[in-house]
Amino acid sequence: MTAYMDHKNLANEVIDDVRAVQIADGVHRVLDRIASAEQHAGRDAGSVRLLAATKTRDVGEIMAAIDAGVRMIGENRPQEVTAKAEGLMARCAERGFALGVAGDSGIASASGDSEVACERIPFHLIGQLQSNKIGKVLPVVNAIESVDSLDLAEKISRRAVARGVTVGVLLEVNESGETSKSGCSPAYAIRIAQKIGTLDGLELQGLMTIGAHVSDETAIRRGFEHLRRTRDRILASGEPGTQSCRELSMGMTGDMELAIAEGSTIVRVGTAIFGERAFI
Ligand SMILES: *Cc1c(COP(=O)(O)O)cnc(C)c1O
Repeated sequence: MTAYMDHKNLANEVIDDVRAVQIADGVHRVLDRIASAEQHAGRDAGSVRLLAATKTRDVGEIMAAIDAGVRMIGENRPQEVTAKAEGLMARCAERGFALGVAGDSGIASASGDSEVACERIPFHLIGQLQSNKIGKVLPVVNAIESVDSLDLAEKISRRAVARGVTVGVLLEVNESGETSKSGCSPAYAIRIAQKIGTLDGLELQGLMTIGAHVSDETAIRRGFEHLRRTRDRILASGEPGTQSCRELSMGMTGDMELAIAEGSTIVRVGTAIFGERAFI
């Protein structure tokens, strides 16, 4: 178990007003950055979705982000998904939002007027997933963005089929080649994606990458551009199960403008919303 989980009660739901305002300001600043980057790149307003990267944040902090306009969240660790899911789903349901698979199964709307459509808040897993943790996340998450091998995809597929569900999958590609990063080699991405497309219980929704950890903006952009071209080639292949491979999850606090200029459809942002992380 990660050490910081011993320091902080991630299920905590009560935060003070100062913290809530800080988080709301962070969300508004990020939404403004996204809107101007869309405009600057000549892209449609609303074509880039904000995913709040909520690792190390508690339920109260995450709900403050949702109250300020966040409509998609992503966790890195299955343990954190488990620690927060119940509280998050309950607090979201109170506000008329269906979080995670609650949106797929209609749990959140079942208690109220069934005619009232809940707004969905997708819940993604964005960090590495060990195969023995697949069962922990499937009851909660709509999509797993960190699938980096056919082997892992096959294991998720078997578990999803056994549960009778379909889970979204993004193939994570290590565009920077940095050894510290997970993700499959760009050279194999197309073939792996095409095979994932054929697996039952999975919907191949797109590709994910983490930008190069360098100061050279040209190098960072090159990785994002390559991910976009890879996505385009997968779509153009017309292979079975590749038609929904549209998402490009790329861009974080430090490089979201570059990613949006290269076609990102989901930016994953933590620090710019919540501030520096105290742990990890
Ligand atoms: C933490 C994290 C982010 C967000 O990073 P920030 O720099 O805090 O915005 C995005 N993607 C992944 C996979 C992460 O682990």
